[in-house]
Amino acid sequence: MPEDPGYDQGRRVWNGLVDRRPAVLVRPSGPRDVATALAAARASGLEVSVRGGGHNVGGAAVGDDGLTIDLSTLSDVSVDPETRTARVGGGARWQQVDTATQGHGLATVGGTVSDTGVGGLTLGGGFGWLTNQHGLTCDNLLSAEVVLPSGDIVRASGDEHTDLFWALRGGGGNFGVVTEFEFRLHPVGPIIQLGLFFWEEERGAEALRFIQTVVDGLPRESGAIVAALNAPPAPFVPEEHHFRPGYALILAGFGAEPEFAELAQHTRTGLRPLFEFASPMPYVALQQMLDESAPPGILAYEKGLYLDSFSDPVIEAVTSRMPLRNSPMSFSPNLCAGGAFTEVADDATAFGGARTSTVLFTVAALATDADVLARDRQWARDLWEAIAPYSSGTGGYVNFMTDYEQDRVRDSFGAVKYERLSRIKAHYDPENLLHRNPNIKPALA
Ligand code: FAD
Repeated sequence: MPEDPGYDQGRRVWNGLVDRRPAVLVRPSGPRDVATALAAARASGLEVSVRGGGHNVGGAAVGDDGLTIDLSTLSDVSVDPETRTARVGGGARWQQVDTATQGHGLATVGGTVSDTGVGGLTLGGGFGWLTNQHGLTCDNLLSAEVVLPSGDIVRASGDEHTDLFWALRGGGGNFGVVTEFEFRLHPVGPIIQLGLFFWEEERGAEALRFIQTVVDGLPRESGAIVAALNAPPAPFVPEEHHFRPGYALILAGFGAEPEFAELAQHTRTGLRPLFEFASPMPYVALQQMLDESAPPGILAYEKGLYLDSFSDPVIEAVTSRMPLRNSPMSFSPNLCAGGAFTEVADDATAFGGARTSTVLFTVAALATDADVLARDRQWARDLWEAIAPYSSGTGGYVNFMTDYEQDRVRDSFGAVKYERLSRIKAHYDPENLLHRNPNIKPALA
């Protein structure tokens, strides 16, 4: 309740713009408590929200005057190195998963900012540094313990509740509250290779054209993020370039060191960067490297879409609009996905994006001041609109939607998947109790 200690901590989410006050905040100690909370919400008519790591930019995890199920109490991670699997509480964050799995030299595909929740990220798909090698996070999901809106507690997997299992892998939090995820793990690190190459804003078009050629030839055992940003005041950035606007290619290598050295050499000689940083580092450090670019409590707005590549019109739109942003924190981080991501059959999961080589394009307005944020919100929308005609056709990644506009949610899944999801929704959540998400409307009987 509002007067209890811990209430503020539970209602605050990553985006500092979100300031909502649920009537009741429930911290379950297991699936039965979640079932009790769902029953209480139904009986009282309170709107339900489910909070994983609280990273949804629109603040879907909390609503005014409703009942929030805060899963932060369910964050245990247990690793079985023999079977290379991990069981992860529905409210865990990637930091907890990475630390536990790396204790055994293992990892699954996690998000690129370590305090992001496992719950929302996995249920919407999940892109990370390992996506080229091992697919989406949801491609690595083996089973889930789910509390259904009816209060039943079930396990969904390739053998049980297979329709639910299909829907959970990309269809968002529409179908039940996941209290435990079981993931497949892979040998990773513990030391990986990092290469960061930065070109100044004046050479933006040339840099992006070159970066695309590097990304096109990316070895499978590597990951790439292309970012338009201001160089951070970090120890690995020469002091004279702190805050300098430009374009970065960040490469992570998970395979043999010589193969990565060749990729790095090809990059630095292909177009000489203004500065670079190349070093081996622990996988856990890679997973935390971008944390400071997106600190909790920052004021935020973001929009995303899928691109086939940085084509010339996209490059023109990006390079002409990036200099117009008002906040030095606003940026455009773009994860490149190919390899294993493209090898999963499109209908194997509910994930809506096309399974072709993709740039997961994002523009993020971030500021500490509300007026500056308002201006960069408009800037982000303008940039997104300039690029939208060149997107690869779907409504974009559901996990990067600040507002869940119904037509974009439908477009994101495509008509066929949306219809299938809405039949599954009608079966598991006919009253649409769980609707603070990329909402699938239950099919009419
Ligand atoms: P929350 O806000 O807690 O939850 C969002 C929604 O997910 C909830 O409304 C609920 O419907 C559902 N949900 C969450 N947990 C559960 C559960 N256990 N059971 C049922 N429903 C649940 N995405 C990527 O793919 N890769 C990235 O690298 C990445 N980096 C990001 C970095 C930052 C700084 C931010 C802000 C976002 C990032 N995202 C990334 C997007 C991220 O996937 C979404 O914001 C996602 O919603 C985060 O999950 P969460 O549990 O923290 O969110």
